[in-house]
Amino acid sequence: MKARFAPHGLGGADPSQTHLVDLRSDTVTRPTLAMRRAMAEAEVGDDVYGEDPTVNRLEQRAAEVFAKEAGLFVPTGTMGNTIAVKLHTQHGQEVICEARSHVFNYELAMMAWFSGCLARPIRTQDGILTWDEILPEVRPMHSHYAPTGLVEIENTHNMAGGSVYSAEALNKICDGAHELGLKVHLDGARVFNAATFLCRTVAEITARCDTVMFCLSKGLGAPVGSLLVGTAKDIARGRLYRKRLGGGMRQVGVLAAAGLIALEEMPARLGQDHEHAQLLAGALSRMEGIQVPHKVQTNIVVFDIGGTGLTTAEFSARLKSRGVLINGIGGTRMRLVTHLDASREDCERALTALAEVAAGAAANASKGSEA
Ligand SMILES: *Cc1c(COP(=O)(O)O)cnc(C)c1O
Repeated sequence: MKARFAPHGLGGADPSQTHLVDLRSDTVTRPTLAMRRAMAEAEVGDDVYGEDPTVNRLEQRAAEVFAKEAGLFVPTGTMGNTIAVKLHTQHGQEVICEARSHVFNYELAMMAWFSGCLARPIRTQDGILTWDEILPEVRPMHSHYAPTGLVEIENTHNMAGGSVYSAEALNKICDGAHELGLKVHLDGARVFNAATFLCRTVAEITARCDTVMFCLSKGLGAPVGSLLVGTAKDIARGRLYRKRLGGGMRQVGVLAAAGLIALEEMPARLGQDHEHAQLLAGALSRMEGIQVPHKVQTNIVVFDIGGTGLTTAEFSARLKSRGVLINGIGGTRMRLVTHLDASREDCERALTALAEVAAGAAANASKGSEA
């Protein structure tokens, strides 16, 4: 493998050290050497004045890649989702979303705090909503109801194991919502993983969504940043909300430079992460005491260790002592995420550790039952 890490003194990991295999998230990726070089050489200006050429280029390229009118560079996906909810809703409305969605569970109630909206979560098996499930939850203007303001969709769905909407199912949701005068925001933190799975472009699979947020900082490997894309009018208003939220970032072309490489070059390698996830999921589903409840389509594997008799904290600790980091996500479920800093070799090392921990627990359990 070519050296991806910065030479000594520029930060990054020392590849000669035995490193931990970190599968807690694809946010843990470190910027590539090409990204670090581009950051050092980035042309910059004051982005609050709209004068940072690198940020302007990134926003324009993001809009082109998604076939939308305009793009807005934001520091985090949470800020991108927050701005989108604000753009499409009024205080006192409801936002329809999936029950395990990021916007509902992991954004500190921002839709209530900033937009004055209530979530109307819908529970699903696999994280994927259908229009038939959404329609009965749409609330009209009525003397007792908060009317629905927005439909929010997550693709891929993080906590449901990286599951993917078909373009047709998502189109049907958008068409249904639009017919009722409702907008659709797509939380596409990992929408490039969805496009990779579907062998389609992100523009094709998000064509009818009013706004799309996607993360540069996850599988695409940039150190920071997300984008919100949509109509020029929405993005111009979004720019004001970004400033209000403290997201006016000045000479931020140093970050956009890494983001441009993430956007242009990194989507093409996501299939590799998906292969690694398949490898891990296949082996996990054959281990005693472990179940993989979702079909693995992208780079996330949710697995249930309930049958091992261990808690997720115990399971994590035993993996950590073998050099592998994987966290619990509630109950007896754990989540692993493959990414560009986890090579095939790393994933094989993780498998060995997982197999040892599972076998150790099974041996202990059978000893217990003999006693
Ligand atoms: C990571 C993520 C976000 C945004 O997270 P930030 O940490 O705020 O960048 C939003 N939605 C989903 C599904 C995510 O996985």
